[in-house]
Amino acid sequence: MTTALAHAAAPASGWELTKIDGRDYISIGGIKRFYNFDKVTRLGDSVVLQNAKVQMSLKVGGNECLMNDVKFIFSHPIATVGEKVYVSRVDFSKLIDPVLRPTFIQNAGDFNTVVLDPGHGGKDPGATNPFGTEANYNVNVADRVKTQLESKGFKVVMTRDSNLYLSLQQRVDFANSVKGNAIYVSIHFNSGNSTARGIETFTLSPPGIPNYEHVFKEADLTSRAGNEHDSANIALATSVHGSILRRLGQNTLDRGIKRARFSVLSGVRHPAILLEGGFMSHPNEARLIENPSYQAAIANGIVDAIGKYRFAVGRTPVAANQN
Ligand SMILES: [Zn+2]
Repeated sequence: MTTALAHAAAPASGWELTKIDGRDYISIGGIKRFYNFDKVTRLGDSVVLQNAKVQMSLKVGGNECLMNDVKFIFSHPIATVGEKVYVSRVDFSKLIDPVLRPTFIQNAGDFNTVVLDPGHGGKDPGATNPFGTEANYNVNVADRVKTQLESKGFKVVMTRDSNLYLSLQQRVDFANSVKGNAIYVSIHFNSGNSTARGIETFTLSPPGIPNYEHVFKEADLTSRAGNEHDSANIALATSVHGSILRRLGQNTLDRGIKRARFSVLSGVRHPAILLEGGFMSHPNEARLIENPSYQAAIANGIVDAIGKYRFAVGRTPVAANQN
């Protein structure tokens, strides 16, 4: 269990654990006390916790949580027992705690190497539309990220820098051949029906949480290689997702930070995320993705985020992004 619950043995801060639908839940009151939120406001189904640094908004019965305007998708619904509001223990320990206290992340350590993985390539173009291929956009964005990170002193390696086909296992093997502390960022663009839009960021499902858009199965209880970094994964996702939203501005739909058991996220032995930077199947977003200034905004967001994440886990200042 997390250090947060270990600390909770202090007499003043009862966590008020309960079971709902057979799962462990923790009261919002306990979270308020532990993180020194000044107040909890409840209006109907809406619950807001606030202090000088953080505003956290939840809706009873829902799975969405906004922390400082970044959307997270909880694995289990927010629930009540009587008047008290509860969140599941897995969402608390695997999401809320590492986001609120990134300096407590285990296995994160300082790092200087960034593995960029532009999705698809070669015989696999990924999503396509009349403007271009996802494989090509992915590598364009990764190139921009690489140039900027190198100017800040990072070592950057890419799974591919040309229109080359790589299997998912080859990407995992490449990332795992990088020795020492590193982080892994897989870059993609989305496709769906013509109304689907917005950005979303995936991190590996913790054990017990199903793969994205799949029903729960027994194998979901098994820990994968990437679960070694559960806390770092969600902290890195938070940083990247939030920074990209800030760079893209308010017209961008925030689809949230989500959990999946994609093979690259399962297999990579570094903190890892997979970004979907907009929908190539949406008429407006297709045009935006084609636009170099949009590609630059995504790249700048990733660069901002890696600097912030590095400071959070390693306390190493990274020069602010001039772009
Ligand atoms: Zn893709």
